[in-house]
Amino acid sequence: MVGKTIAILLDGLDYAYIRENQEQLPFFKALYDGGRLGPLASVVPADSIPSWTTIYTGLNPAEHGILESIDYLDFKNKVKGDYSVIRGNTFWDVLGKQGKRVFIFNPFMAYPAWDVNGLMISGPVFEGGEVSANRPELVDFSSLPPIGGMVDHPADREMEAFFRRTMELSQRQFDAFCRYFERDFYDFAFLGITTPDRMQHFLWRYTDPGDRTHPKGGRLADSVREMYQLMEKNVKHIMERYGDSCQVVVFSDHGHGRRCEKVFYINEWLIRQGFIPDRGLKKRAVEYGKNSMFRILDALHIVEPGTKFFKQFAFAHKVKNAEYVFSGRREAVYAPKFDGTNPYGGILLDRSLLPEDASYETLRGEIIRRLLKVEDQGRPVMLWVKKREEIYAGEHVENYPDIVYRMQPEYGVDRGLFGRRLFGINAMHWIISGGHKPEGVIMGSRPDACEVGSVLNLHDYLIRISGGENR
Ligand SMILES: [Zn+2]
Repeated sequence: MVGKTIAILLDGLDYAYIRENQEQLPFFKALYDGGRLGPLASVVPADSIPSWTTIYTGLNPAEHGILESIDYLDFKNKVKGDYSVIRGNTFWDVLGKQGKRVFIFNPFMAYPAWDVNGLMISGPVFEGGEVSANRPELVDFSSLPPIGGMVDHPADREMEAFFRRTMELSQRQFDAFCRYFERDFYDFAFLGITTPDRMQHFLWRYTDPGDRTHPKGGRLADSVREMYQLMEKNVKHIMERYGDSCQVVVFSDHGHGRRCEKVFYINEWLIRQGFIPDRGLKKRAVEYGKNSMFRILDALHIVEPGTKFFKQFAFAHKVKNAEYVFSGRREAVYAPKFDGTNPYGGILLDRSLLPEDASYETLRGEIIRRLLKVEDQGRPVMLWVKKREEIYAGEHVENYPDIVYRMQPEYGVDRGLFGRRLFGINAMHWIISGGHKPEGVIMGSRPDACEVGSVLNLHDYLIRISGGENR
């Protein structure tokens, strides 16, 4: 029998973390022991924007084409995507058109709210804009907690306040969801909570004694665990309170854990392999100076105040992204911004700039072959290197770089240069110490949740268990 459904997306909740800390998460442990909690694979790259879009629409990222990542180190934090593929194409649109009454609260990126069969309340994607509802007369905006994307960027000394504030905000979002859900009759409800991702990005190093930047003295040592416990408490509350009439499914868009502490200088590698020309000593000198500065700041444990100081210079932003070295004429082979300082990277090949006698596929195959051989201290660095078509098929597959690679989790891509080195330290780890992992989690009242396997299957699963028909 199909009952009502409550679906909850907890951004960045990690399967391995829950398993490793199961003694402190007894309700999650009981779900696991009962076969109702398991891993859930994210998309490539494992980022919120492509993954939520896939969850909403059931389209893989090459089909929906939305691959942006949120760059927490880009202090302007601008993400101006075209998310129109989401509007009208989500699982709740499908269910609504089939007569199900839906309540949708805080669906990240699904903004502004559109006409649905029920009530939809959503917040702005990043900065600017008010909370939006398809039926504003049903909503008391003055009592709603802030929803939508989050833009605050806490410094080390603000971290306790950030933690408390974000915990409270999370609770208020759960409470508001329950309040509105109880006000009317709905067949299907969706709640999005983005705070777990945000908190893990900033708080990871305080909770992980194995982290290079872990502070002495135990400040905020329990913060990440307390966040998981807050999520657990609310999942338990919702499953117990509505369990008689509702099936509950809780899932994440990707996992989370310690962010990479090393970087791979992809452009140095491309120069060394002869795929792009060296840009001359003068530009290298600027890059060398920048990276030396980061190493000094890192050694002195002052990366955060140091970068704030250097940001005052107009060119600092440019230098950070190494665009200074590779500005102007685009090369036939180019390492684009793809997933920030994370294990996923990409290489673009511009067919129009290739020499006439060069074959695109031969060059692509050669770069892949050589990338697979990259080693650091005798250990292979790449988990895989693929042609983009080998990852997903879809009409927007060209939004991916021609070559996509995934490194071991301790490495991130750095597009800068440091002398003649291929590897270095990730100085920005002081500021953003939590990073995405490809394995999220799924759990709930139905044992078949553990069979979903990947976010690619969530859209169809949610429709099916709610008594709807897939296209
Ligand atoms: Zn996310």
